[in-house]
Amino acid sequence: MRALDTDILILGSGGAGLFAALHAHAADPSLAITVAVKGLLGKCGCTRMVQGGYNVALAKEDSVERHFMDTIEGGKWLPDQELAWQLVTLAVERVRELENELGCFFDRNADGTIHQKAFAGQTFDRTVHKGDLTGIEIINRLAEQVWARRIGRLEEHRAVELVKTKDGAALAGVLMIDMRAGDYVFVRAKAVLLATGGGPTMYRYHTPSGDKSCDGLAMALRAGLPLRDMEMVQFHPTGLLAGAHTRMTGTVLEEGLRGAGGYLLNGAQERFMPRYDPLAERATRDFVSRAMVTEMRKGKLTPNGGLYIAMGHLGPEKVARDFKGMVERCADCGFDLAGGLVEVVPTAHYMMGGVEFAPDCTTALPALFVAGEDAGGVHGANRLGGNGVANSTVFGAVAGDSMAGWVKREGALREPDRAAIDAAIARCEPRIAAAHGALEPLRERLYDVMWDKVGIIRERAGLEAALAELEEIAGELEACGIADANRAFNLSWHDWLNLRSLTEVSRVIAQAALAREDSRGAHFREDFPQTGALERSAYSSVRAGAGVTMKPVAFTRVRPGESLLSRGAS
Ligand SMILES: Cc1cc2nc3c(=O)[nH]c(=O)nc-3n(C[C@H](O)[C@H](O)[C@H](O)COP(=O)(O)OP(=O)(O)OC[C@H]3O[C@@H](n4cnc5c(N)ncnc54)[C@H](O)[C@@H]3O)c2cc1C
Repeated sequence: MRALDTDILILGSGGAGLFAALHAHAADPSLAITVAVKGLLGKCGCTRMVQGGYNVALAKEDSVERHFMDTIEGGKWLPDQELAWQLVTLAVERVRELENELGCFFDRNADGTIHQKAFAGQTFDRTVHKGDLTGIEIINRLAEQVWARRIGRLEEHRAVELVKTKDGAALAGVLMIDMRAGDYVFVRAKAVLLATGGGPTMYRYHTPSGDKSCDGLAMALRAGLPLRDMEMVQFHPTGLLAGAHTRMTGTVLEEGLRGAGGYLLNGAQERFMPRYDPLAERATRDFVSRAMVTEMRKGKLTPNGGLYIAMGHLGPEKVARDFKGMVERCADCGFDLAGGLVEVVPTAHYMMGGVEFAPDCTTALPALFVAGEDAGGVHGANRLGGNGVANSTVFGAVAGDSMAGWVKREGALREPDRAAIDAAIARCEPRIAAAHGALEPLRERLYDVMWDKVGIIRERAGLEAALAELEEIAGELEACGIADANRAFNLSWHDWLNLRSLTEVSRVIAQAALAREDSRGAHFREDFPQTGALERSAYSSVRAGAGVTMKPVAFTRVRPGESLLSRGAS
């Protein structure tokens, strides 16, 4: 096993990881910073896939208070208000930094101000964007800046275990697999950032990048950390539905389509959203996704079993101009988005849940920091479109500043618990024996159980059945192993590890969904359809082996029924 030492180890190179690297380096250029990533730096993760854009209160008529209230009300009063406040206030700084220091070009108005477009669920059009493929601009510029600095890179290195000191008092480092060689590497670090980006890829239809398999959340669970809001999985209403034969199925068609006035139609080409909500297609994602499933249950389906989105009434030329990327993506799959109908289905998109953390990105485990989609509490029960990339860049930067300070104050290289490393290696070694292809049926079972029983509409019996089935899948995964003993770039091995992380995290999603006996935001229980009293809002907190605890939300800035806007803010 190779051993490396570094001051700061960052796991993941999305918006959170790269911002953390740049900020830690700016705080102290003498620090040894290493970014370890499962894919290639700048080419993987979901920040690169961001389409619609980035929420930030820039316009004179808008305010951070308004953005905050939208975030709290969108999150159904479950967000941690201090985290949400950090999000909305620091987003302003981050967008300025992206433009003025890092070189991003966002779309502009004729008067030179930044163009901000409409996204669903917001009271102001505040989404900054670069066409409809904003993430490529952000990640390319961030990656260039990281490459230009003395920041170490471990690409195609997969983190597999957070290893503590022998007394368990702090994190000592991270065990990884160098995927190219198949060897283990232990990286000792004074501070570690978990920024592996969550990613609900355990559902039949899902949007996140293929490198994401909830590894970070699974590692945090095994390290004994509490995760919050795990029942809150966001489904994006408009996943492309192009048949089972293509990986394009499930990929997202951006929110701006509904924001701009797109219609959702059932298989009989009838518009249905106005029957479910006065905001119709511009209602929040949770509401639209649920209405879509309800409509699908009525049986008027498209050829592939979903619904349609139609944009043609807005003018095909305008649609082709404003949504070039989306129109091309649909054309690749044989659909005419500008003038015709495109088949869509709700698709698992984002995890509001994640590791419990403080506004300075510290966690319950000294030396471990968390940011981005691995972190829980910013969005509560529902993430507004555009608040995801804001979240990863804002808290990535906070984590970079915070880790640099921590290393200076109390950072030391600590001795890892050698027995824990040995146990983690043993855990990663699959049985070499299985019949070829044994993993695929298990993946299909996982997809089905999560989609059918822990999906958009849930109820007790289904969740209990899901937990039993997930237990079986976990057991069968251990038993099945893989067929090929070659360690270098063994994708079956990594798939096996992916499925184990996904199954571990699926179990806590189902447990938290069972524990929350009301319906709120992304979580809907047919057997408990009402939202509980907002004043007594509680969030779920789950630890491996310790079950779920419901903890009261602290209304530190505003209480249900109040608004920061009515207190005189603009
Ligand atoms: C298609 C799509 C469109 C989106 N559009 C928008 C939008 O318009 N607006 C918005 O606000 N949000 C959007 N989002 C959400 C947004 O992308 C995410 O909220 C955000 O980018 C997450 O950033 P992150 O840094 O936490 O994770 P990511 O950017 O996903 O990065 C995670 C990183 O961790 C690495 N990693 C994973 N596992 C390991 C491991 N075991 N070891 C080492 N590295 C690991 C990955 O390779 C990757 O580099 C979209 C998401 C998708 C999928």
